[in-house]
Amino acid sequence: MLRRLRFAVAIALALLATSALAQASWEPVQSLIKITVSHHDQYRIFDKMGMSIVDVRANYVKALATAEQLAQVQAMGFSVEIILKDYTREFEEKGYPPIGITGTQNWTFYHSYAQVRDTLKAIALRHPTICQVESLGLSVQGNKVIWGLRISDNVNVRENEPRFRIVGNQHGNEHIGCEPPMYMATILADSYGVSTRLTQIVDNYETMIIPMANPDGATANTRSNANGVDLNRDNGYMWLGDGNSPSFFSQPENKALKADADAHAYAISLAYHSGAYYVNYLWNYTPVLTQDDAFLKQISVGYDTWVHYDTTNGWAWYQTNGDIDDVSYGLYGDFDTTIELYGNGYNPPTDSILSICQHNKESILYQIRKCSTGIHGVVTDINNSRPIQALIRPYPLSRGQDWLLYSSKENGDYHRPVLNGTYSLKLSANGYRDTVVSNIVVPDTVNPVVRNVQMTPGGNYAANRVVAVRQDDNAAQTNTTLTPWVLGMPDTKSYAMGPSGRIILDMGQGTEIVDGTGPDVRVTEYPNASHAVQCSVSNSWTGPWISLGSGNGTCTFDFAGRISLARYVLLRSGASGYSLDAVEALNHATGVEQGPPGSVPYVLSLTSYPNPFRIRTTISLSCPAGSTGHPCSLSIYDISGRLVRILSPHASRLTPYEYVWDGRDSQGTSLPGGVYFYRLASPQYTATEKVVLIR
Ligand SMILES: [Zn+2]
Repeated sequence: MLRRLRFAVAIALALLATSALAQASWEPVQSLIKITVSHHDQYRIFDKMGMSIVDVRANYVKALATAEQLAQVQAMGFSVEIILKDYTREFEEKGYPPIGITGTQNWTFYHSYAQVRDTLKAIALRHPTICQVESLGLSVQGNKVIWGLRISDNVNVRENEPRFRIVGNQHGNEHIGCEPPMYMATILADSYGVSTRLTQIVDNYETMIIPMANPDGATANTRSNANGVDLNRDNGYMWLGDGNSPSFFSQPENKALKADADAHAYAISLAYHSGAYYVNYLWNYTPVLTQDDAFLKQISVGYDTWVHYDTTNGWAWYQTNGDIDDVSYGLYGDFDTTIELYGNGYNPPTDSILSICQHNKESILYQIRKCSTGIHGVVTDINNSRPIQALIRPYPLSRGQDWLLYSSKENGDYHRPVLNGTYSLKLSANGYRDTVVSNIVVPDTVNPVVRNVQMTPGGNYAANRVVAVRQDDNAAQTNTTLTPWVLGMPDTKSYAMGPSGRIILDMGQGTEIVDGTGPDVRVTEYPNASHAVQCSVSNSWTGPWISLGSGNGTCTFDFAGRISLARYVLLRSGASGYSLDAVEALNHATGVEQGPPGSVPYVLSLTSYPNPFRIRTTISLSCPAGSTGHPCSLSIYDISGRLVRILSPHASRLTPYEYVWDGRDSQGTSLPGGVYFYRLASPQYTATEKVVLIR
């Protein structure tokens, strides 16, 4: 008896181990079910029960349900059809080859994680001048990378070109979502110099392809990542905590995408999903339409020309909070649209992968070309032509005028697709006066207009970027104020935070708030009221946060020695809300711009170790092998931008070189503890990094 039981257990374990898709521990067994409903909005019943909604129509809802949830739905009297008994075993239930099992031809199988990695690397090896493989970060399990392939002519140089992004497979079980991105990566790269129209795309645009944004989930065939979090509910724009997300941008996979989006100012993006047929455009969290609704409809209908999926506004389909489209548009002004590729389960039979990729290819090329319509230009300093990373919004700000975008840090270039019409823009940047550019006429929906802008130095120091925002569900649905209104200096335009709202704002790299004389930060409420607001600050948007206390209405806060420098401000509203107009730095760092050295040509890294340091730190600079030397200077500045020490007035050696800084100024005097900047400058480039001296 005992022997037989042991034998049975051994067989069961062996079966479990050899199954290509053993049930992941982070998700219970779920069935894909179709529930007959009498009204579209009945999906909210199942949403509230914690089920993952997959598709909503007038007379049915598709959702993922555990056995308990299924029993509950049936007990409520709904008629239910089970489409897939165990959605992670879709391939087995439908008799498809498992993921990663290659056929004899390309595009007849679903790529595994290892195949995505190896294929992207092989593409980059074939086309090193136009393709660059980028590691954006690690998954929860820590053994898989979120890979991106960047495709552009001169791919190592940030050029004045519009940027386009494709993200696939955020939901791990939606494997078809990985395939059009993989197909585009292959086609774009391999057609360079062969196809005239694809060569033009590579030459004139920068395309970033991230085929597998949830590699742990894709490997285990689960919707969520290895923490059991739905990555497409975890983003920090109007976040609500859906999909088991404990906090905004809580998951490493989303932090990786966020860091890339922060750095690249994408004009248009696409995200690939499955479970329905749809081209799904903004917003998803609110029924209030964006000002760009007509443009979004145009590019969505345009996309649909080749695929015939049908188009829908996200909210009208079903409400989601914390999804990738809303965060892309809300924080960066990126027109991000979700494409739902397949409606009969999640993954089509493998013999239809190729035709799905081919149909979506034309739609993707259409949207890439849309990036170069509308208004384009370069923003620079009027005195020294240095590029400025400026916040760009419509002018005048008024209800419905809710969009924003940023020019790039490296070139100051900006790219804003819009419909034809006449536009005025307001540009804001810390250390510069606001600049209004009026009467920009966009002639049609094909030809772009170029408007370069010069900005004049001046005294504005205010939050210029929203990092993350949470709003109460009911408030979010009726609130017509939007977050671009909290940015820049006070302007009598405000964003209603709603009860128990939260917002994290970025004061900008190099223009952080510092502990100075008197109050250090001012929070302005408009219309002038006396609502309560709590203020905390940090040097990292993930905290830890130093509380500066709370105030009422327009109020100021003092660092009072609790922290010397802070880039991020976290505000919390109370039960009666807060109408946030602006957050200003009354004492601020100035004069030194900071940039990621990786974005600077010739310089591979500019680092210091240790950092923070007490006695001495070694600053290392390394250049790519084979690059020619440029004379350059390495200097130290204090937090106010004052030059305190020149380490090397004329360094021309290369690969690598190191300088030791002992925390002393040019007179040999020990400097006080605090933040310092070391800056490498040559006629070709500058790079600046931060180092902290502890006394
Ligand atoms: Zn999905």
